Amino acid sequence: MAEMITLALSKGRIFEETLPLLKAAGIEPLDDPEKSRKLILETNLPDVRLIIVRASDVPTYVEYGGADLGVAGKDVLMEHPEAELYEPVDLNIARCKLMTAGKKDAEEPQGRLKVATKFVESTKRFYAEQGQQVEIIKLYGSMELAPLVGMADRIVDVVDTGNTLRANGLIPMEHIADISSRLVVNKASMKTKHVRIQQFIEQIRIAVKEQAND
Ligand code: AMP
Repeated sequence: MAEMITLALSKGRIFEETLPLLKAAGIEPLDDPEKSRKLILETNLPDVRLIIVRASDVPTYVEYGGADLGVAGKDVLMEHPEAELYEPVDLNIARCKLMTAGKKDAEEPQGRLKVATKFVESTKRFYAEQGQQVEIIKLYGSMELAPLVGMADRIVDVVDTGNTLRANGLIPMEHIADISSRLVVNKASMKTKHVRIQQFIEQIRIAVKEQAND
């Protein structure tokens, strides 16, 4: 029996946009995670399985060997700067921007800027590089609310079309980083399952290039 390869994915946009790349590598899941409650999905290949985890948990599963490989947004990876992972391929999917945003007509606050975000590490780094002292308020979602209820002067969030910001009377301000999803690989797996994982990485690389040429 060939060695098992486990790939960690999150539901939703990342799963959907990874599917065509997997298909090009000859891998098709036997279940749809939107319809099934299974957390381990078998594929058409007996030696490849997918596990469905929260987007923010993908680096942890891959670092600790719960999965050999994973697909994680750069926004999530930037929150785990210490994670021991290889990041061999930019998949060029789930693209967006990490940005600061605030109320259109907001005045500069008297004291420290209050910034609400779930991206605490990236936010700290961004303002530190600007030499600006800020107070960071950690949230887990609906960041857009914080300026509206007077809890924060700014938010840091991922922005795609900007519709969510606009719908809440906020405007994008500073660009922090371009975001896309990356293939990440467990360091030990890269050694112990080298041939199979290298083959997978090459197939995915080719699929990403072909998608870019479409
Ligand atoms: P927008 O198109 O700017 O209105 O994006 C809507 C919301 O979807 C944003 O507030 C984000 O929370 C989320 N979002 C958009 N693109 C991505 C992405 N590539 N990865 C993760 N979340 C995203």
